[in-house]
Amino acid sequence: MFILLIVIIFLLIVIYEHDEIDKIDDYIEQRQNMVASQLKNRDIVDSKVLQTMLTVPRHQFVDERIKESAYNDYPLAIGEGQTISQPYIVALMTQLLELKGDEKVLEIGTGSGYQAAVLAEIVEEVYTVEIYESLSKKSEKLIKDLGYRNIHFKIGDGYYGWEEYAPYDAIIVTCAPDYVPPYLLQQIRDDGGRIVIPVGGIWMAQTLMKIEKIRGEVKSTGIIGVRFVPMIGHSR
Ligand code: SAH
Repeated sequence: MFILLIVIIFLLIVIYEHDEIDKIDDYIEQRQNMVASQLKNRDIVDSKVLQTMLTVPRHQFVDERIKESAYNDYPLAIGEGQTISQPYIVALMTQLLELKGDEKVLEIGTGSGYQAAVLAEIVEEVYTVEIYESLSKKSEKLIKDLGYRNIHFKIGDGYYGWEEYAPYDAIIVTCAPDYVPPYLLQQIRDDGGRIVIPVGGIWMAQTLMKIEKIRGEVKSTGIIGVRFVPMIGHSR
């Protein structure tokens, strides 16, 4: 019995040592500073967004060697020439979606999975589409290891959205097409559905747009100038 106990303890230690996810979160202070100086200091006021940005371990979504920069005020490389957006942009786009908590949200451009995790903390279900298989698989594994159960992954061209689970309450696009893909407009709710999306060509300035459908009518508002990686696939 005693030996069995020793073996179990030994096994637990081995598993603990090999777990890729840091059990002890050394980055709480960095997150608090990020929220205070980059978000509250600007125009992020939605308490759900602020709370979530304090919770999601952004450093887990970037490469080991750039972990220390994870909470800095700029975007970071995540492989395949892609980037994870600056914390402020993640917070701003999430705030623009005006989430209450019971929504079903579609994300185009899974990338590292960070934005999906931020959404999953707030809403009921998150559906996310990524064109690169390698990025989707890597982010799916991390998301599962972190314990999220309400994020659903698809590998494909997000230009076409994800028809199967439509209509969505909201869609967030984290790569920039030249124009709003018509499929996305079709896949939001007719009354109250919204899309937050950067729009603009590779060489042109991009604008972060908020698009809303109110009783079937589409209303678009330009928010700020942004720089996202281009949407590839059909839209090019
Ligand atoms: N939301 C991500 C940031 C993603 S960067 C995060 O939090 O990390 C933009 C992502 O969009 C990249 O991963 C890129 O591969 C992906 N992408 C580009 N074109 C796409 C398309 N047509 N469909 C789906 N994903 C696309």
